[in-house]
Amino acid sequence: MSTVAGTAAIVPLPQSRLIATEIPGPNSRALAERRAAVVARGVSLGSPVYAARAHGGIIEDVDGNRFLDMTSGIGVVTVGHTDEAVVEAARAELGRLTHTMFPTVPYESYVRVAELLAEHTPGGFPKKSVIVSTGAEAVENAVKIARRFTGRPGVAVLDHGYHGRTNLTMAMTYKAHPYSAGFGPFASDVVRAPGSYPFRDGLTGPEAAARTIAILEKTYGAEHLACIVVEPVQGEGGFIVPADGYLAAIAEWARANGVLFVADEIQSGIARTGYWYAVDHEGVVPDLVATAKGVAGGLPLAAVTGRADVMDASGPGGLGGTFGGNPVACAAAIAVFERIESAGLLGRARAIGELLLPELRRLQAAHPAVGDVRGRGAMLAIELVNAQGEPDAAAVGSIIAFALQRGVVLLSAGSDGNVLRFLPNLATSDELLLEAVAVLDEALASL
Ligand SMILES: *Cc1c(COP(=O)(O)O)cnc(C)c1O
Repeated sequence: MSTVAGTAAIVPLPQSRLIATEIPGPNSRALAERRAAVVARGVSLGSPVYAARAHGGIIEDVDGNRFLDMTSGIGVVTVGHTDEAVVEAARAELGRLTHTMFPTVPYESYVRVAELLAEHTPGGFPKKSVIVSTGAEAVENAVKIARRFTGRPGVAVLDHGYHGRTNLTMAMTYKAHPYSAGFGPFASDVVRAPGSYPFRDGLTGPEAAARTIAILEKTYGAEHLACIVVEPVQGEGGFIVPADGYLAAIAEWARANGVLFVADEIQSGIARTGYWYAVDHEGVVPDLVATAKGVAGGLPLAAVTGRADVMDASGPGGLGGTFGGNPVACAAAIAVFERIESAGLLGRARAIGELLLPELRRLQAAHPAVGDVRGRGAMLAIELVNAQGEPDAAAVGSIIAFALQRGVVLLSAGSDGNVLRFLPNLATSDELLLEAVAVLDEALASL
């Protein structure tokens, strides 16, 4: 290991699983006790092991166990844990310019991130951005901007959608438990309709779009809608890929009715599905795009990017915040854009889909609990059902627990909690990915 003077080099971590203690080990158990006394219960408890460090596709816990990470911090460290280029860029900026607040004293990296967003979001027209810190904040700002531009109040969202935990985004999120129940009153003028869920509704894209549109028009009225906010692949809702033509039909209806089409690409964007943005699969061009999770390699950065005329409807001071576009996060984001280009990560995400989809279909053929296999690129899922074909959340829980004991971290999703989602980062080798499939196979057999 080489250590450059003045910097702490990234500690190399073997890219392999290792179970050294019982899971969770003694150090994780001690931390769990401390946590129980001081961390709010509302912060959910995923895995019982505590992370000490991570690199590539592997997380090492405080007891020296090494786990293959199939979650990427929910699709955040897309370029890999502690990617050297991203860490170096952030570290250098930290010692140069930690914070001035862009609206007070501006700096180049914020402008550069806005240039990169303009270049990589869909659409060839002039685009502008506001940079914020979290996904929910990006969604809130997209709605603010759409309302200001259209002068209309309404916000349309879809069943199974997830948009965040702030007051407005709770109102926009489908699932009440645990996200919004008891946290009201909620923002008004949010109208919800079914989207496209091929495994469950069996509709074609145009049929599902006609249903969405009819409900929005009947229950609210298109002429009062500022925007429709859509995840091109629904994330928390269960990695639901809409049927072909659904997104295009919704975008066309929106355009014809003066409703802005807002793509919430917070989970699906930035190379995750094999394109810069998941709408690119269908050639759909949104008016506004929300970017967050994968864009800065783990540092908090989010943005709204879109048509310059729409973005500029808000006057100076109407958008922004203290931490939005922090220089260190901007430096990391610039490095992430460069890494995706230089390491060919769009192709890597597509290759992961091509490797894993047939493997997951093989498991589907072997295990009746696997009802559906779906996804795009490195954003994949299986939906588990019981013998009656009903959602089976308990099976998902058992599989996650089983896999952790064997050194694989998995994550659930779905409005019914019966979906296992796979969000490997793009630095994970084929060999490790196939190991995860083998563990999943064993877990399914153990049900
Ligand atoms: C995670 C997520 C959000 C919220 O982002 P936060 O950074 O957690 O506020 C919004 N929309 C989608 C699609 C997400 O996946």
